[in-house]
Amino acid sequence: MTAEALINVPTVTLNNGTQIPQLGFGTYQIAPADAKAATLAALEAGYRHIDTAEMYGNEKEVGQAIAESGLARADVYVTSKLNNGFHARADALAAFDRTLDDLGMESFDLFLIHWPLPAVGDYVETWKAMEEMQRTGRVATIGVSNFQQAHLQRLFDETDTVPAVNQIEVHPYLTQETLRAFNTEHGIVTEAWSPLAQGNVLSDPVIAAIAARVGRTTAQVTLRWHLQRGDVVFPKSVTPARVAENFALFDFELTDADQLAIAALNRDERTGPNPDEFNYIP
Ligand code: NAP
Repeated sequence: MTAEALINVPTVTLNNGTQIPQLGFGTYQIAPADAKAATLAALEAGYRHIDTAEMYGNEKEVGQAIAESGLARADVYVTSKLNNGFHARADALAAFDRTLDDLGMESFDLFLIHWPLPAVGDYVETWKAMEEMQRTGRVATIGVSNFQQAHLQRLFDETDTVPAVNQIEVHPYLTQETLRAFNTEHGIVTEAWSPLAQGNVLSDPVIAAIAARVGRTTAQVTLRWHLQRGDVVFPKSVTPARVAENFALFDFELTDADQLAIAALNRDERTGPNPDEFNYIP
């Protein structure tokens, strides 16, 4: 990825030496009919990191947007995820080929196991299949999503590769201090999904007071809080003005007191499923 492509977005170095842009664009719950326009709007606004997944049902349209953007493939960091239901080795390898085909790409920057599915219990086999995918050179970096400490510990004990990232739900109402610290201790970068709690934190009075003081929106303050904690974020919006707003995060700073005040809003409140209990296979 060229420096020019990254505009002002800092990168985070992963445990295999590769770099990921700290801010990207999320594509969950974007209808296929809207996904191409939304992704193109994000690329035009300057985003160079797109987070998608087979589960979102919009990979073809996301891939078309990247292809038609005029940007070199190497200048856009692309993450996708292995869907639930393809955890067995042969299924995982076939699903990886399909998802590359759907996006119209020869390789991914980052590929993740979407959910551990602990009651199914086969994520160690899945991780070994991910290691095989990486050895083919068609994915630079492999990681996991929604893994709790016990799930990560099994990978450490039973496989050779430490995941580069763990993509988990994190926002001011679910600050995840313990799991984030465990990730850091093991050299795993935390990616914070639903960084705005799907909009739930945007009317919070503490965040609103900080936003009023710094002359920014509550979304910008919340995203800036994540960035200053060192996490990778990819807010989703189908609204072009919000897409631009969520990218304008690099010309202001929060104080340590602001960071602590926002972290103190934690209520351990999830917007999505608890990974220990989620075993859904489509
Ligand atoms: P989010 O980014 O926290 O919030 C998206 C919601 O906030 C949308 O309703 C959007 O509305 C609204 N919004 C965005 N920017 C705004 C702004 N500046 N002002 C007001 N409202 C704003 O939620 P998310 O999409 O769940 O999470 C982000 C990404 O994380 C996903 O897209 C996906 O890539 C990833 N994710 C991963 C997992 C996983 O299991 N690994 C799970 C969930 C999400 P509009 O779109 O209507 O503008």
